[in-house]
Amino acid sequence: MSMMDRLAVIGFPIEHSVSPAMHTAAIELLGLDLRYDRVAVPPQDLESFVSGLRRGGWRGVNVTVPHKEAVAGLVDRLSPESRAIGAVNTVVVDAGGRLAGHNTDAAGFIRALMEAAGFDPAGAGVTLLGAGGAARAVLWALGNAGARQVRLFNRDPERAERLAAESGAWGLQTAVLVAPWNEPELSRSLDQADLLVNATSAGMASNESLLPGEMLRPNSLVVDLVYNPRPTRLLREASARGCRVLDGLPMLVHQGAAAFQLWTGRPAPVSTMMAAAERALGA
Ligand code: NDP
Repeated sequence: MSMMDRLAVIGFPIEHSVSPAMHTAAIELLGLDLRYDRVAVPPQDLESFVSGLRRGGWRGVNVTVPHKEAVAGLVDRLSPESRAIGAVNTVVVDAGGRLAGHNTDAAGFIRALMEAAGFDPAGAGVTLLGAGGAARAVLWALGNAGARQVRLFNRDPERAERLAAESGAWGLQTAVLVAPWNEPELSRSLDQADLLVNATSAGMASNESLLPGEMLRPNSLVVDLVYNPRPTRLLREASARGCRVLDGLPMLVHQGAAAFQLWTGRPAPVSTMMAAAERALGA
């Protein structure tokens, strides 16, 4: 080992990312010779930044908004899940300087569901809100974990239709259905679902919820991918209604833990990473 290898999260803007705090805590705990920074990469600089990763000194990067889809087209190979999802949140630089794209959001979501909420999606009926990058990863993850049925709702219905059609090529046993976004349809879907996932950005840094709390079915599990604020209005109303709730922080930590393992080959110290993420969020 000569020079300290670099890691970073890239995005635009990137100031508010808690990934540097989370990964630096893990690196320090394990005493690894690595450094993790945040790097603001404007869209017009993305291609040259990614090429530069091949020139040495880098172990990998995390990728966040708005670059996850573009990076999938810039790496040398894609893992099966990042190819299906069409987005990369983790790049691993191998010894020869070649770049592998991965998507750990999917695995992070399932581990959060199983470990933090004790919920096994096998056989479950799911209502999924959203059809953006996060919803794609959640749908892929739920399908591969054996969910029975997923009903997709998105403000732009064509985007949901496209996602459902594309997921037909993923080889899932899951029935993926698209429903129009209106109260009767949402209500019917929630009545039949064991799990509701909000994978839209609604409720982020706001007091907005896309659903009236009375629509939620008591005893179902409600997951909000949004982790700022904690809890969101959706989760507050869900708790009041008697639902079990899971916010977005365990998924964030588990996607980071999976990335850490890809870069280092070491098991990630999940509870240390969770504590660092909570501190960075000021929680
Ligand atoms: P995208 O920009 O790809 O998609 C945004 C989605 O939110 C679209 O479905 C969009 O609908 C919908 N949306 C936004 N605002 C509204 C609104 N006011 N009403 C209804 N729908 C709305 O974002 P991502 O998929 O990448 O991220 C979505 C959220 O998930 C973000 O808050 C992000 O922070 C969070 N996330 C959390 C992770 C975690 O680890 N906890 C990991 C990844 C993401 P439309 O198509 O109609 O525009």
